[in-house]
Amino acid sequence: MISISHVSKSYGTFQVLKDCNAEVARGEVVVICGPSGSGKSTLIKTVNGLETIDSGEIKVGDFRLAPGVTHMAALRRSVGMVFQSFELFPHLTVLSNVTIAQTKVLRRPKAVAEEKARSLLTRVGLSAHITKYPAQLSGGQQQRVAIARALALDPEVMLFDEPTSALDPEMVNEVLDVMTSLAKQGMTMICVTHEMGFARNVASRVLFMDGGEIVETADAARFFNAPESERAKAFLARIL
Ligand code: ADP
Ligand code: MG
Repeated sequence: MISISHVSKSYGTFQVLKDCNAEVARGEVVVICGPSGSGKSTLIKTVNGLETIDSGEIKVGDFRLAPGVTHMAALRRSVGMVFQSFELFPHLTVLSNVTIAQTKVLRRPKAVAEEKARSLLTRVGLSAHITKYPAQLSGGQQQRVAIARALALDPEVMLFDEPTSALDPEMVNEVLDVMTSLAKQGMTMICVTHEMGFARNVASRVLFMDGGEIVETADAARFFNAPESERAKAFLARIL
């Protein structure tokens, strides 16, 4: 479903991605972890074209991204993304947040879009909150709206960049539960997260990044029980 081959990228003289290679099969859930500044956000954003690449190639389904390729609108539609900071439209209700891209981007009739939004908001446990504004919701609820909003465009892939890092601890699980059920329904997912319980229980594989490189790729159980690289061992010792 996704292949990342020999992807490199620099900001000026600073190389943020160094010859990254990874494959994600349809229906697979891959967790990316690694120290702050290791390039995780940059890598995940290259997959939906939010960051360009200097060399290499990325394929997502039938889409191909390479240096200089700029036609990304269709790709962005088929790759949903959820950020640490929710990024909801503050002036729109929950229902409108989940409806607007459907009507504006996909040109769905309003009634169809609203029906879909209600159904997704029910799925993430928010049917009682559809007329509220983001500021009236808790962080966990806002993040679940963000997930519903991404799902509204029927993505083939979902990207999550530290979706629970900005949440109070008691709200982390309500978001992870939604992600887990999405994974169980067969969604192809790449998740940057340090939630090791989620990684162990849901991810098929873990990519460990450090200094712009994918240092280690392993199945989740193996990565946590017996990481191979010294860098992964040191990272796990710090966070576990
Ligand atoms: P992570 O998500 O693993 O914390 P990032 O991908 O956000 O890492 O960033 C990797 C490195 O690239 C960091 O050192 C960061 O400061 C740098 N970086 C990120 N975005 C930019 C940018 N737009 N310009 C310059 N440097 C950047
Ligand atoms: Mg990041």
